[in-house]
Order: sequence, then C-alpha cells, then structure tokens
Amino acid sequence: MMHEEYEELAALEAIGGVTDEESRRLEEHCKGCSSCRHALDDYREAAAGLAIALPPVSPRRDARDSLLIQIQTEAVADSRVAEATEDAAAMRRRTIPSWWSAAAAVLFLALFGWSELRLRALREELTLLETEKNAVITENMRLGNDVQAARSRLDTIRSANQLFRLAASTSSTAASANVFMDATHRRAVIVFTDLEQNDEAHSYQLWIIRGDMKPPMSAGVFDVDADGGGEVELHDMPVDVPIAGLAVTLEPRGGLSAPSGAVLLQGKA
Ligand SMILES: [Zn+2]
Repeated sequence: MMHEEYEELAALEAIGGVTDEESRRLEEHCKGCSSCRHALDDYREAAAGLAIALPPVSPRRDARDSLLIQIQTEAVADSRVAEATEDAAAMRRRTIPSWWSAAAAVLFLALFGWSELRLRALREELTLLETEKNAVITENMRLGNDVQAARSRLDTIRSANQLFRLAASTSSTAASANVFMDATHRRAVIVFTDLEQNDEAHSYQLWIIRGDMKPPMSAGVFDVDADGGGEVELHDMPVDVPIAGLAVTLEPRGGLSAPSGAVLLQGKA
C-alpha cells in the first residue's frame, strides 16, 4: 500500500471505519512512518474534538441526497459487477467498504473541515498567549533589574561620606544635582533635577574635574526624562585620580572623550 492509502485508512480509522486487520496494518505502518503517524494523530484529534465540541447538526438536504445517490450508484455498480461474476460474496465484500468509504469521506470532510478551523484558532490563541507570556517574563526581568539597581543606589547613598551639590553655570535654569559619594568604595550616586530632557541625538555627559590639573575625565553619559530627572551611579571610580569636582555637558549621543559643549552644571567635591 502507498502512503496515500494509509492516510485514507487513518481518516477512516479515526471514525471507527476500519477492520481489525486494517487497523493492525495501519498501526504497523505508522511505527515506521512519521508522516502517516502524524496524519493518524491529526485525524484522531479532529474526530475527538468534534465528538466533544460539535453540536448536533442535521446535514443539509442536498448534501444528504447527493450522498445517498452516490452510495446507491456505487451499490448498483457493485451489484452489477457481482452479478457479472456471479459472486455474491464479492458483492458483499465490495458493497460494505463502498458504503463505509463514501460515508466516512463525507463525514470526515465535515468533521475535519470544522476541526481544522477550531485547531487553527486554538493555535493562534496559543501563539498569542506565548507572546504575552514572553512579554511578562521580559517585564519581570526588567523590574527585577530595576529593583537591584535601586538597592545598589540606596546602598551607596547610605554609606556616602562626601555630599556635595552641582549647580547651574547660568542663572537661566533651575537645574541642579546632589552628589552622594562613597569615597571608601570609590562609588557615587548623582541625582539630577530640572534638567531639560535630551533628544535622541544627544546625551548628557558627566565629567570628573581632576585635582591634578589634567583634562577632565568622562564618568559616563545619562539621559534625562520628561520630568527633568536623571540618575547616574558610578562604580570603581579611579583610585589614582584626585577628584576636585564634577561637571555636566550636553554632547552628541554616546558622549565624547573630551567635553565639547558648554558646562551646564558643576560643583566642587
Ligand atoms: Zn506512510
């Protein structure tokens, strides 16, 4: 038998339309053929889903009539063949499978067509849920990171032994920052207020003003939100750099190695 025939057999099997012998042969074939195995599983799933979920429906009159006509025609043809061969046993053998396959084919189309739609809807729903689950996982991780960052900042603020303030260089802005420096652990938290929100093309850049008269050293870039607030946490501040103070400039996104913009905020340590 060909694979197609096994697949047809699988469709019949799912709605109980095969003999024990056919069922045994199908099982045997499916052991070594994953494509037919999947077909059989799909058909069984479709048939089971239908049995559970499909409300009883009367077949459309014309569909039922054409099925009956088809079955009668096949039965007549079979009986003619049987008469010609005068083999009544052959007629019985051939008539019963004809009935079965015609009925099963119509039933199967009705069942599978419906079931396939339902399965497709369920698959789409599953994909959607999967996407939502991933979004929740991502959000959860983001919140977890936020909590950790907040704890770390609080740690630094608690152990800060040097507090100072950065003030605006011009009186035209109310921007300022509080610096909490934990010199022992070479770390600091700087909290900015009332800075103008930076656009996509620019970053605020924090600079360490060195006590040894060497050029300022970048301490990183940061963004300011619509509320004018921003926070920077510094770790592993250089031990060998004497920190005279901090300054802030606005630079191209990502920052530069030396300040190019006007000093917006500054303060002495
Ligand atoms: Zn096969």
